[in-house]
Formats: sequence, structure tokens, C-alpha cells
Amino acid sequence: MTAPTPLIAGNWKMHGTAASLGEARAVAARVGTGGVRVAICPPATLVQRVSEALAGSAVLVGGQDCHFEEAGAFTGDVSAEMLADAGATLVILGHSERRAGYGETDELVAAKARAAVRAGLEPIVCVGETLDQRKAGDALRVVTGQVRGSLPRELGRKAYSVAYEPVWAIGSGLTPTLAEIEEMHTAIRATLRDLFGVDGDNPPILYGGSVKPANAAEILHAAEVGGALVGGASLKADDFLAIINAV
Ligand code: PEP
Repeated sequence: MTAPTPLIAGNWKMHGTAASLGEARAVAARVGTGGVRVAICPPATLVQRVSEALAGSAVLVGGQDCHFEEAGAFTGDVSAEMLADAGATLVILGHSERRAGYGETDELVAAKARAAVRAGLEPIVCVGETLDQRKAGDALRVVTGQVRGSLPRELGRKAYSVAYEPVWAIGSGLTPTLAEIEEMHTAIRATLRDLFGVDGDNPPILYGGSVKPANAAEILHAAEVGGALVGGASLKADDFLAIINAV
């Protein structure tokens, strides 16, 4: 089996205006082709402009969420087709901030993943346990359950990735031990094989949660870690590039 090409995706969350385009350009100027795929996921308002700023570079652009319908009376929402039209080729789905803040269920995340496939976008489907769930010894059951519930069968051989993001590690400066990361990534891979057979070997399994230049190399070289979803450290080109270069 060939290991999937690693993906390093930056999640800008609700940060960024036109003044941030320079950071995206600075990343693009120093990312080469081959070995690693790099994506920047800015707020929806910037998808088009970041796509234009990155045109001709190897850096991809992604959205941070999408509606499951193509169009309709859904005030404030953005469809997968709209993201694709604005230049995105990926979309983050089921981030814990959306699961917790907007009540997104596995079923809704799966519907959004189907919409992403329909629009030709590559979903990055996020899963992760809370600190209480980990303390209760429930992390593996919760996360593998999210994988089963959030990945529609339509994904099959399509390009997608799973991002394991322990909720308690996001933005906190805390990270699981390498053994905990490897245990979870191995369990996610086994679940993907159970769901999709040999095709379950194809998607990279990203780690996310307080990845920074200082810890990127050891996390990225852990077993079954196929890249990273990076929040805070993706906002500054120098930090994001240091993480990319740690692959
Ligand atoms: C995230 O929001 O997906 C994330 C991993 O954030 P941070 O890197 O800031 O912990």
C-alpha cells in the first residue's frame, strides 16, 4: 500500500480580511510542488480573493463549511457549489466548533459531505472527543462512531480526508501524547477499512489541535498521521510554512 500524500490545511476560522491576502501569497511563494499538498481555508468572504491570489501556485483553497442543498432559501448559508464557483477545491466539514456551536450532528455532516462530492469538492471531515469523554475512557468509541456516522458511502473512492481533532486540544496549547494520537489514528484507519474495504487505505488522516512549529515534526511523523489541520498557527505564513516543512 502507498501512503496517501500528506495534506497540511490551514483553517483561518473567522479571521481575515483583504489585509490577510499577503499571508496567503507569502505561503504560495515558498511552497513547492510534490511531497505534500497544502491548502488554506479562509472565511467564505475571502475564498474568491484567496483563490485569485494563489492562482498558478500549488496551494489549494478550501471552505470551512457548506450547506447540503445546492441553492435555496437558507439565509446566511453557502453551498458547496458556491464554494467551488469561488475557486475552492476542498471544504472542512463537521469541525467541533460547528458541532458544538450549531448542533451539527453526524447525519448533517454526512449530508454536507454528499453535497461536497456532488460539487466536486474534497471534504475534510472532522471528528474528535471532548475532555470529559476522554477522561471517561470513551474517546475511541466516540470518535470511531463519528467516523461511521459522518462519512457517507458516496465517498467511496473519492478524494477526502478525516481530521482527528480532540476538542480539548483545539486552541488550548494542549496536545495528546504521541501514543494517544497513534492509537486514535490507527482506530480511524481500521474503521475506514471496515467501511470502505481497501479504499479505506486511501484518505490521509490529519491530526488537528494546537499543531505549531515546535511540535509539528514529531506529530507529523507519528504512525498513520497523514498531515495536519492547523488553526491558529496557519494565520502567519512563517509559522504555517514551518509546519509544512516539517512533513
Ligand atoms: C482547528 O481549529 O481546526 C485547530 C486545529 O485549531 P488550533 O490549531 O488553533 O488548535
